[in-house]
Amino acid sequence: MPEDAASLRIVFENSGDEKRVLLADLVAALSGFLDHFGVKPLVGERLYDIIQTGDGRTKLSRLLKACGYSDNPEGFFTELLLLLGKADGTATISMNGIELPPPMLTAILEVILPGNRIFSITSTEQLEKVANIAVADADRAAMQTVIDTYPVRLSMHTIRQMRVSPHVAYQYLPFRRELDTVGHTNTWIGQFHQGLLEQMYQNRVIFLMNMSCPVYCRFCFRKHKESRNEKNPTPADVKQAVAHVANSPSIKEIVITGGDPFMNRANMACAIDLLKDIDHVQTLRLATRAIAYYPHMFLADDAKLLNYVKRKNLELQKRGKRMEVATHFIHPDEISPQSLTIITDLVNSGIAVYVQTPFLNNCNDQGPELVRLFSLLRGAGAELHYIYIPCSPIHGNSVYWTPISKGLTVGRYLRAHLSDRVIPRICTATPIGKMDWHTSGWAVEPVAGNDHFMWIRSPYTPDYFKHFAPVANEMENIRVNAEGTIDIQYMAQIGDPSLFLGARPPKPGGGAAIPRQRTDAILPRIFAGEHIAASIVDTGSSTVSRVHETRVEIAAECAEADLEYIRGDERITDAVIVSGQDVTDSLFQIRHIIRALAAIPHVNAVRLRSLNFNYAPESYSPVVIDTLGGLNSLTMVRPLRLEIETQFLVADEFQSAHTRLARRLNNQGITVYNNTPLLGGINDTPGAIHRLAYGCRNAGIEFHHLYVAGLPIQDHWNTQHPVALYDVVDIATRVRREGSGREIPRYIFRTTLGEVDFGLSATIVGDGAHLSVRLLPYELAYFKALSPDFTWPEEVRVDDDGKPIVPIAGLLKTTDFQLS
Ligand code: SF4
Repeated sequence: MPEDAASLRIVFENSGDEKRVLLADLVAALSGFLDHFGVKPLVGERLYDIIQTGDGRTKLSRLLKACGYSDNPEGFFTELLLLLGKADGTATISMNGIELPPPMLTAILEVILPGNRIFSITSTEQLEKVANIAVADADRAAMQTVIDTYPVRLSMHTIRQMRVSPHVAYQYLPFRRELDTVGHTNTWIGQFHQGLLEQMYQNRVIFLMNMSCPVYCRFCFRKHKESRNEKNPTPADVKQAVAHVANSPSIKEIVITGGDPFMNRANMACAIDLLKDIDHVQTLRLATRAIAYYPHMFLADDAKLLNYVKRKNLELQKRGKRMEVATHFIHPDEISPQSLTIITDLVNSGIAVYVQTPFLNNCNDQGPELVRLFSLLRGAGAELHYIYIPCSPIHGNSVYWTPISKGLTVGRYLRAHLSDRVIPRICTATPIGKMDWHTSGWAVEPVAGNDHFMWIRSPYTPDYFKHFAPVANEMENIRVNAEGTIDIQYMAQIGDPSLFLGARPPKPGGGAAIPRQRTDAILPRIFAGEHIAASIVDTGSSTVSRVHETRVEIAAECAEADLEYIRGDERITDAVIVSGQDVTDSLFQIRHIIRALAAIPHVNAVRLRSLNFNYAPESYSPVVIDTLGGLNSLTMVRPLRLEIETQFLVADEFQSAHTRLARRLNNQGITVYNNTPLLGGINDTPGAIHRLAYGCRNAGIEFHHLYVAGLPIQDHWNTQHPVALYDVVDIATRVRREGSGREIPRYIFRTTLGEVDFGLSATIVGDGAHLSVRLLPYELAYFKALSPDFTWPEEVRVDDDGKPIVPIAGLLKTTDFQLS
C-alpha cells in the first residue's frame, strides 16, 4: 500500500478511545516539526545529535534509523502510536533508548488529537477519559472530592502536552494530595480589595477583571472553588475602578489580571479605552498565562485577539503610554511553537513580554531546566522578570513547596550558567507586598513557637500604607523593627538556618559626610572611551574577552580569530560589541560582526554598548535605527536578538529624546537596557537611584544592573568616595517599596573572576574598607572548563568549600550585619 493511503490505529489504553490516522499525516507533522523546529534548544542535545541539520525529511530519516526503523516510517509510527496510546503523563517516551522531546510529540498529537477545546472536568470518569489516566479504585472518591473542591479545567493544548510530559501533567492534573490541609485555608488576597480593584502599592493597582482561567493550574493561589466561582465584575465596576485611578495621581501603572482578563473582553476593552485617556497613567500590564497553556485564544480567527492587543498598544503609544504583557512559564516542556510565535509577534510590535516563574518542587527546582526555559524565551524576545519562591502556602499546594534555601541555590546556578540578561529577580510575595531576597528583604528569624512560620523583613513601612491601605498596619502578624520597616510572618521553611540573618541595626551615625558631587566630576573619564572588560580567562586575544561562561565582549575592530573563538564554544550565547567611538559611529564594522555572529547557531543575542544613546541620542539617525532593525532577528528558532546597552548615572540625564528613541527601537523589537555604576557622592542615595529607576521606566529603558562595585570607573572614583553597603540595602528597599516592580535592577559586584549578585550569590568578607567578596557560583572547575590552563590570579584566596574570595575596592562595611 502506498504510504499516503496507509492508516494506523491508536488505542488509548486508559480512556478506551480508539482512532485511525493517516500515516502520511503523521510523516508530514513530524518532518514539518523537524524541518522548522529541529534545533538543539527545542529538541535537546541528544536528539539534535541524531537528526543534525538538513530538511525535515532528511532529519526524519536519521531519526527513523536511530530508532531502529531505517526507511520504515510505518514501523516507527506503529510503535510510537502504541507508546502514545499508553501515555498518561507519568513518564517520558523513549524509543530504542532515545528520549523523544515533548514538543515534538505534541506536534504529532496535534494530528491525532486535533482541536482547541476547553474542558471543564466535573467527574473522575471524565478526567480519565480526557487525560487518558486510570485512577485506582481506592483513590476514586478522594479524586472526586479534589475535583469538587478545586475546579479542573484543561485545554486541548495542555491535554496533548500533559500526556507526554510529566512536568506539564504535574501542573494541571488534579491529584489526591490536594486534600492535604496543611497551609492557609485560602489565599490571603482580599485585604486590599475594593470591588475589582486591589491596591497594595502606592504607584500601581491591580484590576481583577475575570475570576476564571481557561486552564486551572493546580498550584494556583486562587485554586479554591470559592475563588473560582466569585462573580465577575461588569463594565460598570470597571468604570468605578477607573474613576479611582483618575482621582489618584500617584497611580502610574495598572496590572490588568484575573483569572485571565482576556476571557472577559467587555471588561478588558472598557478598562483599556478608559485608562488610556488618564494623563498620569503610564503603563498597562496585561497578565495572561494563556500564551503558554491556551495559545489558540490569541491565534484563533486569524490572530484576532493578538491583533487587537497590538492595535490597542498603538493607541496607547500615541498618548505616550506603554503596554506590557506578563505571562508565566515554568518548564521547557511547555514551550510550543505557538507560544513563541505570540511572544515574538508582540515584542516585534513594541510590546514588552515579561515572564514570571513560580518555583515548583520537583519540576523546575534544579537549575538546568530553567537555563533551557529562559534561553528559549529570551530568543523569542521575552524578558525574565521574577522567580517566585516558594509556591503559595495554601491548602492543597504542599507538594509544590520548596524551602527558601533551594530557590537561592538555584539563583546561584543561574548566575554561573545563564546569560546575565535573563536572570530573574528572586522574590517572595508576602501578604503586604513583594520583597527581593537579600536586597530589599531577608529572613530574620523563626516565629517563636511556630515551626511553620518565619519573620521576613519587608521593605515596607507603616507610613507607606497610611494613605492608600491603612488596613495593612492593623494586621496582627506584623511588627515594626528597629530600622523602621515592617517584619511580617510568612509561612515557609528556610532549609538552611544560616539564612536567618537577624535584624539589621539602625544606620550608624558619625563619620564625615561625603560631599555631594555632580556628574561633571566624572564624565571626562567616562567620555575617554569604552573598552572591552577584562577577561576572566585567557582568550589569547586582546580584542575578545571572556566575561562569563555564556558571554564575551568583543571589540568592534576584532579579528577573524576572535569570531573563531566564539564559534568554537557552544556555551557562548551573548556577544557584547564595544567600540571606542560608539555603535553609531562604527556601524560598518558592527554590521560585519553581527552577520558573522548570525551564522553561529549558539549565539542568540548581540548587545551593542552605546554611551551615545544617553549622551548623543541624535546620533541614532533614521538610517541607523533602520539598519539596527534589519539586524535584529527575533524568531522561534535561531534568533539573534539585538539589544542596546547604555549607561545613565543620574535621573537628570533623561530627556524626552531618550523616550522617543527607545520607543522607535522598541518598535523594531530592540530592547534598550541601562547599567549604572553606583558612585560615592554622585548617585549612592536611595532617592537618586529611585529617581533613576523611575527615569528608566518612564523612558522605556530596562534597568538591568546597578553595579555596586567593580567597574573600572568605580575602582577609580569610589576608592576616594566609598559607597556604604548599608546604603545599598536602603537603595534596594526604597526602589522596591516606591518604584514599579518592573524598575528593579539586579545589584551586582563585578570582580576579576566575573559578576555576582549582592547578597544572593556573594557574601562580604572583612570589615571597614578592607573588603573582599566570596563568589558562591564559581569554583576552580568552572574556570578550567573555560580555559584548561587557568590558575587562580595572585590576589584570589580560596575558602574551605573551594569558593574564591576576591578583593573589592570602594566599599564600606559599617555594621556586623551580613548585608550592611
Ligand atoms: S493562570 Fe494564574 S490565575 Fe489562572 S489558574 Fe494559573 S496560576 Fe491561577
